[in-house]
Amino acid sequence: MSDRNAGATTVAVVGGGAVGVTAAADLAARGADVTLYERGSLGAESSGRAAGVLYDAYAEDVDAALAARAMERFRAFDRSLPGFSFSPCPYVIAVRKGDPDADAVPAMVDRMRSHGRDVSLTDPDALADRFPIATDGLAVAAVAENAGWCDPASYVAATGRRARREGVAVETETAVSLLGDDGAALRVDAGGESGTETHAFDAVVVAAGAHTADVLAGAGVEVPVVPYRVQALTTRTPYDGPMVYDATAGVYLRPHPTGLLAGDGTEPVPADPDGYDREADDWFVDSVAGTLRERVEAASETDPDPERAWAGLCTATPDGDPLVGPVDGSNALFVAAGWQGHGFMRAPAVGELVAEGVLASLDGTGADAPESPWIGAFDPDRFDGDETFEIAEGMSVEGRVGE
Ligand SMILES: Cc1cc2nc3c(=O)[nH]c(=O)nc-3n(C[C@H](O)[C@H](O)[C@H](O)COP(=O)(O)OP(=O)(O)OC[C@H]3O[C@@H](n4cnc5c(N)ncnc54)[C@H](O)[C@@H]3O)c2cc1C
Repeated sequence: MSDRNAGATTVAVVGGGAVGVTAAADLAARGADVTLYERGSLGAESSGRAAGVLYDAYAEDVDAALAARAMERFRAFDRSLPGFSFSPCPYVIAVRKGDPDADAVPAMVDRMRSHGRDVSLTDPDALADRFPIATDGLAVAAVAENAGWCDPASYVAATGRRARREGVAVETETAVSLLGDDGAALRVDAGGESGTETHAFDAVVVAAGAHTADVLAGAGVEVPVVPYRVQALTTRTPYDGPMVYDATAGVYLRPHPTGLLAGDGTEPVPADPDGYDREADDWFVDSVAGTLRERVEAASETDPDPERAWAGLCTATPDGDPLVGPVDGSNALFVAAGWQGHGFMRAPAVGELVAEGVLASLDGTGADAPESPWIGAFDPDRFDGDETFEIAEGMSVEGRVGE
C-alpha cells in the first residue's frame, strides 16, 4: 500500500498474470490506490506460457459478451498500448467425418450467431477454396471472423507498464498470503532482508491462477479451482493460413513469427502448481506433428520438428465457468480464476469487470443488486468448495454447444 493517493480506496491484487495486471491497471484508472503483488516476475506462470489464440466465438450469452468486449479492447490496445500488437486472423473450428461432434456444429454456430457473433457454418470444399489448408477427412467447420492472435507475454509486460503509469505499485518477487480472520489483510514476503510485513487494504483480489485455491485456503476459503497441464510448441514450418482448431484431433494451430504455433495436449488430471513437468511430452509432440502433416502443406513436405515445446497449467471448475466476484459474501475479498483454458483471451474484459465490480461492492452495491456489474453465472459462492469433479477439456465442441 502506498500514500500516492491519500484517501483513495486501497486494493491489493494478488497475481501478476494477464488477469491481475489488467485488473490492477483498470482499478487504478478508476481512482483506486492499487498494489499488485507477484511472487515471481509478471507473466511468469500461465499467461507467459499461453498460445495467444483470441476469439469471441462462444455459445453462451455471458461468455460471448465478455469475449466480444475483450476483442474490442485487444484491437484498441493494438493502437494505444506501446509494445503490444494484435494480428487479426479468422478462427476455424473443424470436425472430422465419423466424429459425433460434427452433428453438434450447426447448433453451436446458431447459438454463437444468436449472440451477434460473426460465425458461419462452412463445408470442407468452401473452406479449402477460402484458405490454404488441407481439408481432407473433414465433415464440417465453423469460421469465426472476430479473432486473431498476439504474444501473451508482451500483453502482460505492456499492461504492467500501463498499470505503473496509472499509479499501481508493482511488487514483483513478492509472495503474499491472506491473513485468515483479519478482513483484507496480507502477509507480504518480499524475501531476503526485507522480511515479512503485514498490510491491510479495503479489498484484496486473488488472481493467482493455478495457485488460487492455495492462496484462498490461507483465509480458510475453499474453492474448486483445479490446475491441469496443457502443452504447446512452435515449429519453423511456414504458415500464413487461419487459426485452426481440429476438434477431432484435439489440436489447434496458428501463424507465429517464426512459422507456426500449435497446442492443446490436455492432461485431464490435477497437477501440482509447484511441481508439474514444464517440458512437453513426446506423445504430444508426435500427435501435433501428425495433425500438422495432415492440415498444413509445408508440414507434409518437411518434418515439422519443434523449435520449442513446453507445458503450462490451466484451471478447471465443476461447471467450466470461472469464479469471478466476492468470496463468501464478503465485500473485501474477491477472486478471479478458473478459466478452463480461456483466461488469456478474456483477460481484458475480466480485468475491467473486476475493477468495476470491486469498486461497486465497496460502494455498497451488493452482488445481488440489479445494477451490480458482477456476472451471476460466475458467482464464486455457487460452489461449496469441496466439490469433486472430472476435469473437462476446455475447447471441446460439446462444451461449446451448452444446453
Ligand atoms: C500452453 C498453454 C496455452 C494456452 N493458450 C491459451 C490461449 O491461446 N488463449 C487463452 O485464452 N488462454 C490460453 N491458455 C490459458 C491461459 O494461459 C490462462 O487462462 C491465463 O493465462 C490465466 O491468467 P491468470 O492471470 O489468471 O493466471 P497466471 O498467468 O497464472 O497468473 C497468476 C500469477 O499469480 C502469481 N501468484 C501465485 N501465487 C501467488 C502469491 N501467493 N503471491 C503473489 N503472486 C502469486 C503467479 O506467480 C502468477 O504469475 C493457455 C495456457 C497454456 C499453459
